[in-house]
Amino acid sequence: MNTNPFNPFTEEHELLAQSLRDFLKKEVTPYVDQWEKDGHCPPEIFQKMGEQGFFGVSYPEEVGGSGMDLWAAVIVAREIAYANCGGLALSMYAHAYLPPPLINAVGTEAQKIKYLIPALKGEKICALGVTEPGAGSDVGGIKTKAEDMGDHWLINGSKTFITNGNIADFILLAARTGEGHTLSLFLFDTSTEGYSSQPVGDKLGMHSSDTALCFFDNCKIPKDALVGDKDFGFYYIMNNFQEERLIGAIMGTYAAEFALEKAKKYCQEREAFGRKIGGFQVVRHKLAQMAIKVETCRSIAFRAIYEYIEKGPMAVGIISMAKAYVSETCMEVINEALQLHGGNGYMEEFGIARAWRDCRLMTIGAGTTEIMHEIVSKLIVDDVKHEKILMDTHV
Ligand SMILES: Cc1cc2nc3c(=O)[nH]c(=O)nc-3n(C[C@H](O)[C@H](O)[C@H](O)COP(=O)(O)OP(=O)(O)OC[C@H]3O[C@@H](n4cnc5c(N)ncnc54)[C@H](O)[C@@H]3O)c2cc1C
Repeated sequence: MNTNPFNPFTEEHELLAQSLRDFLKKEVTPYVDQWEKDGHCPPEIFQKMGEQGFFGVSYPEEVGGSGMDLWAAVIVAREIAYANCGGLALSMYAHAYLPPPLINAVGTEAQKIKYLIPALKGEKICALGVTEPGAGSDVGGIKTKAEDMGDHWLINGSKTFITNGNIADFILLAARTGEGHTLSLFLFDTSTEGYSSQPVGDKLGMHSSDTALCFFDNCKIPKDALVGDKDFGFYYIMNNFQEERLIGAIMGTYAAEFALEKAKKYCQEREAFGRKIGGFQVVRHKLAQMAIKVETCRSIAFRAIYEYIEKGPMAVGIISMAKAYVSETCMEVINEALQLHGGNGYMEEFGIARAWRDCRLMTIGAGTTEIMHEIVSKLIVDDVKHEKILMDTHV
């Protein structure tokens, strides 16, 4: 076992990295420009990635995973970030790290067979439906309702900004089952009568990722669609957010590293005033500052992973810090990388414009920076207990 905390990757991890890198080179890189125009990546790419086992690396073998550790998921996030297609990264992340950990943790055997295993194999595409037009950060404020009709649940409401929502076979859906902040989670088949969806409209970035508005109009779903215990939805979502935010912080770290490498190479080649621009001290110092930022992102993100491996969602403090820090810092690094490309940075051909657009989501998705600061301040200023944060309806 590799015990170096700054390089936790083993030979097995690097073999996984190599096979994913080869896959991305062949199956993704040549098509990204087209997917960006299409507004989504094709459903077949989920199937191909699933067949190769890339979604299930850190899931147990019983549910179709490879049974590797969380560092294998870090490797997958790293290689996808290096492919410089944030849209694909977002869609894959929403598919592999939003509903699956929750189904694995609290789903029944039948739910694992019907949903989790096919999702990890890429046979079914999934989405997480929490955000609504009237409630995003305030998860406890959602209005979509699930009524217990005796022999079925009746779902009414709408969701917005749902990644993969138009192409998903099922949605892990958060719906209200009581007054106040009482929510429950359901496995919702998108073939259910009364369900419809549409693209949200033009987005700033992440163009290869499908984002949907979803409508639930008197949708009847079976009683066994409930995931875990009734009324515990809020608690499950808060716990699941931790792994989601952790993987987000890792993706941001490697997106920044990718941009740094791109900028370095450009500065070593581009000439101005009769010399390489990388020879100007200002430019060299910019690159040095970017490298320091990438290293600090890596340090806090890795530290959060170690703590998560040890404590699970109770690592909420360091995870929230990592999510906030990496999200803000990766935008700074990528912005500087674009600047160092001059006018070429503004051109699609050089790829840095796409990285710049895509990274803007980092401080918004999976919990905004302000919400991360709110969590951290509750922990460090108000001395709120970590357990309480995971139950708290106001963060
Ligand atoms: C491309 C994309 C993909 C997404 N994918 C998904 C998905 O798959 N599933 C899903 O459920 N959601 C998804 N989301 C939704 C995303 O998680 C929310 O947009 C995000 O949580 C913010 O919620 P909001 O948009 O309602 O903003 P709001 O909650 O309205 O926030 C607006 C502003 O107010 C600030 N604010 C709010 N509350 C506080 C507070 N207490 N203290 C200080 N500041 C505060 C916020 O930080 C923000 O700056 C996606 C969003 C996008 C753009």
